[in-house]
Amino acid sequence: MSDPFELVNDLRALSANLWWSWHPEIGEIFQALDAERWQALRQNPIAFLDSFEPAELEQRAHQGALATRIEQALRRQHEGTRQRGPRANPEAGPLHPRPVAYFCAEFGLHESLPIYSGGLGVLAGDHLKAASDCHVPIVGVGLFYAEGYFEQGLDARGRQVEHYGRHRLDQLPIRQLCDADGAPLVVEVEVAGRPICLHLREAMVGRSRLILLDCDIELNPPEDRRLTTQLYGGDQRTRIRQEVLLGVGGVRALAQLGIRPGVFHLNEGHSAFATLELCARQMQEEGIDFEEARQRVARQTVFTTHTPVPAGHDRFAPEMIDEALGSLRERLGLDLRAFHGLGRIHLDDPDEPFCMTVLAMKMSDFTNGVSHLHGRVSRQMWAGLYQQHSPPAAPIGHITNGVHVASVLAPRMRDLFDRHLGPGWTARMDRPETWEGIAGIDEGELWETHQILKARLLDFVARRVATQEAPRGQEAGQILPGSGLGQEVLTLGFARRFATYKRADLILSDLARFKRLIHDSQHPIQILYAGKAHPADEQGKALIQKIVELTTDPDLGGRVVFLANYDMDIARHLIQGVDVWLNNPRRPQEACGTSGQKAVFNGVLNCSVLDGWWAEGYDGQNGFAIGQGAELPDPARQDELDARELYRVLQESILPLYHQVDAHGLRRAWISRMKWAMLSLGWRYNAQRMMLDYLRRAYLPAVGATTSG
Ligand SMILES: *Cc1c(COP(=O)(O)O)cnc(C)c1O
Repeated sequence: MSDPFELVNDLRALSANLWWSWHPEIGEIFQALDAERWQALRQNPIAFLDSFEPAELEQRAHQGALATRIEQALRRQHEGTRQRGPRANPEAGPLHPRPVAYFCAEFGLHESLPIYSGGLGVLAGDHLKAASDCHVPIVGVGLFYAEGYFEQGLDARGRQVEHYGRHRLDQLPIRQLCDADGAPLVVEVEVAGRPICLHLREAMVGRSRLILLDCDIELNPPEDRRLTTQLYGGDQRTRIRQEVLLGVGGVRALAQLGIRPGVFHLNEGHSAFATLELCARQMQEEGIDFEEARQRVARQTVFTTHTPVPAGHDRFAPEMIDEALGSLRERLGLDLRAFHGLGRIHLDDPDEPFCMTVLAMKMSDFTNGVSHLHGRVSRQMWAGLYQQHSPPAAPIGHITNGVHVASVLAPRMRDLFDRHLGPGWTARMDRPETWEGIAGIDEGELWETHQILKARLLDFVARRVATQEAPRGQEAGQILPGSGLGQEVLTLGFARRFATYKRADLILSDLARFKRLIHDSQHPIQILYAGKAHPADEQGKALIQKIVELTTDPDLGGRVVFLANYDMDIARHLIQGVDVWLNNPRRPQEACGTSGQKAVFNGVLNCSVLDGWWAEGYDGQNGFAIGQGAELPDPARQDELDARELYRVLQESILPLYHQVDAHGLRRAWISRMKWAMLSLGWRYNAQRMMLDYLRRAYLPAVGATTSG
C-alpha cells in the first residue's frame, strides 16, 4: 500500500535536520511550493509545512513536478547526515569513541532558530556545520531560550524597540530527549542552594548533535522557570545562573546521555563552570585531589577567547559566586581563597572580581584567540596571569575564524564555483590550489552574477522598507528611506551588532562630507545598515536612532537605509549583494570579525580597518584598508584619524576603481580585485580550514593523539 502523503513525509524529514539550511536546493523546493508563504513564515520549514493541509501539500508537490527533486534531496540528505564512523575521516579517528563537547551560550544556525545574538553564535553554528562536513565527531551544548534574543522594531522617532515572543516548540527543528519509557530526561543542577531541573532538547545539524538545556518546565517554580527564557537578558544574577546551568548542567547532560567526550571546548568563558563540575566528578570517581583533577581536566579542555574588550568578559562579585556555587566549592574541597582565586589574577586581592575568562584559562591547557592580532593582544592582556602562577598557564595562541561557505554563498555564485573549481571543491576548501580556478572565471559573467545579486538585494530592501515599522518618511520634510537607491550606485553595507567600538557612524562623522559623497554627480554612494543594540546599551541605541533619523533626511536622497531586525537572513542578502563591505572597529577591539569573510566568497570587496582577520588577510590588492593600523591612546583622536582615512580610501581608491571601465564598458580593474580577493582569501577564511586547525592543533593533542597534519 502506498502512503498517500509520501511527499509530505519526505518534506517533513527534510525539515527535521538543519542540514537543509546549507543546501539551498531544499529551500528552493519550499519556495516552489509557495514562495510568498515561505517568505512570510521566515523560511521556517516546519511552520511552513504545518500551515498546509497534508492533502493540499501533497497535491502541490505533484502539480509542481517536485517529486523527483524532493526524493533526490532526501537521498542526498541521508548521505550527508549518515554517521560513517572513523573511516570517513581517519584523521579524526581518535575522537570517535570520545567526541568533542563544544560549549557555547549561543548558536546561530538559521534565522528560524533564533537563539543567537551575533558573530559568536554564528561562529558556533558554523563550527557544528563544518564538523559535520569534515566528519569530526562533535556534540554542541547550549541553552534553549524559549524567547530567544529580542526582535527589533523601530518607533516613530527611530528608537529601537525590543519585542520578545515565545517560539512555538513544535515549529522548531528540535526534539525533546526522553528515556526508554518515553519520559523526558531530567538533569538537576544546584543553583544558589536550590535544585533546578533541566529538560534536554536536541537539534540535528547534519551529523552533529546540539543539546540544548531548558529550565522553563513545570518541574521548576515560576521564579526559576524564566532563567533560560532570554539570551543575554536579565541582570548579573540571571547571567551567573545561566552560566551555572550551561556549564554544570551541560556536563551532567552529557553524562546522562552516555556521551563521554574526549575534549571539552569552551567557546567563550560563559561555560567555564563546566570545568569545575568535571573536576568534582573526577575527584569523586578517582579519589584524587583537586590539583590532580585540575591537571587532568585542563589536558582535555580547549578554551577560545573572543574579545579584547574588557567589558566583554564576565566578572562576578565573590559573594555572587558563593551564592550561586556554594555546594560546588564544598565538593571541590576548596577554601574561599582558593575558590575565588580560580577566577582571579591576584589571588589575594579581595577587590578583584571573579572572571570567567581567568577561570577558563586556568582550567585549560590550550587557549586561543581568534586572529593573529587577537592572539597577540590577548597575550598582553593576560600577561599578569602567566607571571603569577606556577606552573605557568599555557601561552595564548590563535586560530583565526573562518565562515561556513555553503551557508553564505549565493547559489548563483556557487554555480560559478562548481564550474571553475573542479569537482569536489567543497571538500578541499582549505587548500590554496582549490581556489586557483577562480582565475578562469569569465569577467563578464562574474560581473553579471554580482549585478543579479545586487538587484536581488535592492529588491529585498525595497520590500523590507515597505513593511517595516516607522519611521517611513511620511512626515513633512521627510523622504521615504531607500527611495533613492540605484543599481549602478556604489553600495556599501554595514551590518553587525551595534556595539560602540564597531563605530557604525564613523562614516557620518563629517556629515557635510558624507552628504557630498552621497550626492556626488559623477560617483555617488549609497549605504545599507542593519544591526541590533543590546537592550541595556544606551549608546548603541542612540547610534541606531541617529542613523534611522538620517534615512528620512531629504538631504540624503533616500540613499541611506536601516533595515530593522537584523538576522541571518538579512545578513545573507547584504553580504551577497553590496559592492563593498564596510568594517571600521576601533583597533584592536575586533577580535576577528567574520561578516567580511562572508562577503569575500560572494565577490564583495572588504573595506576595513586593519583589525581582526583583516590585519593578517589584507595584502594590498584583495580589498581595501582604512589607515595603516595605527593605535592612538586617545579614542577621540583615533576616531578622527580613522574617519579621515575612511573618506580617503573611498574617494582615492574605491570610487575611482569602481568607475574605471575598459573599451567594452567592463569594470575590469574592479572585477580583477573581486577575483583576487576570492583567490587569495578563500582558502584561509573558511570554516573547514578552521575546523582542521582545531582538530590538529587542539583536539587531537587533547586526547593524546599525535598529529599528522
Ligand atoms: C556574521 C554575522 C555577524 C558577525 O559580524 P561581525 O562583522 O563579525 O561583527 C553578526 N551577526 C550576524 C547575523 C552574522 O551573520
